[in-house]
Amino acid sequence: MATLGWIGQTLGELSSQDLLRTETVLGAESGLIPDGRTLLADGRQYICFSSNNYLGLAGDERVRRAAAEAAMRFGAGTGASRLITGTTALHRRLEEALAEFKGTEDAVVFASGYHAGLGVVSALAGEGDVVILDKLSHACLIDGARVSGARIRVYPHLDIERLQELLCREGSARRRLVVTDSLFSMDGDIAPVKELVRIAARYGAMLLLDEAHATGTLGPQGRGLAAELKESWDGLIQMGTLSKALGSAGGFIAGTKELCLYLRNSARSYIFTTAPPPAAIGAALEALRIIRSEPELIERLRSNVERLASLCPELHVKSHIVPIVVGPAARALELQKAFRERGIWVNAVRPPAVPHNKSRLRISLTAAHTAEDIGALASVIRELIPLGSSG
Ligand SMILES: *Cc1c(COP(=O)(O)O)cnc(C)c1O
Repeated sequence: MATLGWIGQTLGELSSQDLLRTETVLGAESGLIPDGRTLLADGRQYICFSSNNYLGLAGDERVRRAAAEAAMRFGAGTGASRLITGTTALHRRLEEALAEFKGTEDAVVFASGYHAGLGVVSALAGEGDVVILDKLSHACLIDGARVSGARIRVYPHLDIERLQELLCREGSARRRLVVTDSLFSMDGDIAPVKELVRIAARYGAMLLLDEAHATGTLGPQGRGLAAELKESWDGLIQMGTLSKALGSAGGFIAGTKELCLYLRNSARSYIFTTAPPPAAIGAALEALRIIRSEPELIERLRSNVERLASLCPELHVKSHIVPIVVGPAARALELQKAFRERGIWVNAVRPPAVPHNKSRLRISLTAAHTAEDIGALASVIRELIPLGSSG
């Protein structure tokens, strides 16, 4: 057998388990711009409920123009990492704007949210420390914990009592870091941020809150769930991405000045990668400006969430991310196909993105959807999903 024969064998196994992924190549025709509402594939237009472009800003003309202008003024690429030639005045301006948005002293922009999660966890914890994660934390946080060399403990999803037990039991660790999403990417449910802060602070542990899906969508003015806290606490480290509601690409950590300087000196995924391109930075800055000056965008997202919740109470809608859990991967794929035949673009999410036998359709709503779009989605759900079989 060829040396790489094992790869073909592995792919065959994935395929037979309905776990092989392939990418959809979107059409090059006009109408390709991600407006947060439609999608063009296989020569057909769909209503798209799969994108994290929650406010439609990836396709907003002002955001695209800002990207183009930033590229014209600052170049297509940065030429080196942030610490070498990769920090333009634009990068600093975005970091200052993010810090102001998040109500922190400073912020650090990474090449992606994945880089930010990987870098911050492995910079804050190491040998002799313990990282305690919610079971459904995003992969970049789990990977960060793995490369950190710290001991890893996991508590059942949202189980605050178990978290408290673990903090208690791990009292001898040098440092303790609690890690969780604020809005969970595949379940659409929300961590009890106030409780988490109270418990982490009581045990002298740090708390990393990944607000990837909440930044620009939840909390006062879309500042994320941490912005709902009454008091500030230096142990709270906020993470977000520029790639979802902000419609661009990149990730960030917001916190104290010292934390940010420390990350610039120690987060390997910050130091050893080329700085994000000016176009992405310029786009994110403009998106942030729009979010702050046009609160009606977030209001529209909220009312779409409410609309789906009232049309489909059986879904127990908690946020703009709505899972329809169906179990076997094959069933999720069947449903994906049936939805698409009806003009609704949704994606089957299968292991390892979700636990075994918890395959699902993941529906994401955006501010760009119309009332008719939500109505169309609801009637396809009612046609294809037997009542009481999801959740
Ligand atoms: C998407 C996501 C990330 C990664 O962000 P990117 O900018 O896409 O790399 C990190 N954490 C969570 C919870 C996410 O959903």
